[in-house]
Amino acid sequence: MSTTDDTGNGGSGARHDQVRDLLGAYLLGGLSPQDTRLMDSHLAECDECLAELTAHTPVAELLRHKAPPSAAAEPQGRLEQLLAQVRTERRARWTRRGAGVLAAAASVTLLAGIGVGILIGGNADAGDGGDMSVAFSPAAAGVETVGDATFRQKPWGTEVSVSLSEMPADGPFTLRVYGVRGHVEQAATWGPTPNDTVRVTGAVSMPIAMVDSVTVTDRHGNAITTADLPG
Ligand SMILES: [Zn+2]
Repeated sequence: MSTTDDTGNGGSGARHDQVRDLLGAYLLGGLSPQDTRLMDSHLAECDECLAELTAHTPVAELLRHKAPPSAAAEPQGRLEQLLAQVRTERRARWTRRGAGVLAAAASVTLLAGIGVGILIGGNADAGDGGDMSVAFSPAAAGVETVGDATFRQKPWGTEVSVSLSEMPADGPFTLRVYGVRGHVEQAATWGPTPNDTVRVTGAVSMPIAMVDSVTVTDRHGNAITTADLPG
């Protein structure tokens, strides 16, 4: 497949529209050698893509390295799902050239999902009508961690934002989302914060209807606080 001159409408702008959908997979090291070369050459000439890449690179590094050895299989599965989604988006986009507005919008949303926003100390979203929020309850003796989790349906899965206080002092912490059929996805990982409070936004691939509960675990994998969805 020629990846340099198959746009039909010419110019670097069209190529930009195509390859920017690959940024997420590129960040995570999931592109084929051919597509990696395509991104490399495009990044050399496109400030916009380079800026987007730079903005997300720390997050990609975090995603690559967040898995503790005991849970290695888990994020790997999620990563593969994300990469498969990127490939599907891209295929749909390239075959429906000219009518790709929806695919482009979905891809941009997906990239935002890959860029799991670690917004420690940041401002939480005000939320909108489609959100579902549940309260955390401490799950271990001697732990007083409380807060809330807000779930928002996305085309690629579910965005999960948590706001917690009275966090234990020793991280790292992991946000795990459990499905109604017993499977679990890791939505975010973060370290200790100075004032024992944290706001984190992460993502899982399961739809909100499949979410059963959400749990924050300590570095040993033990639950410190948990929240159940109704129904
Ligand atoms: Zn570009």
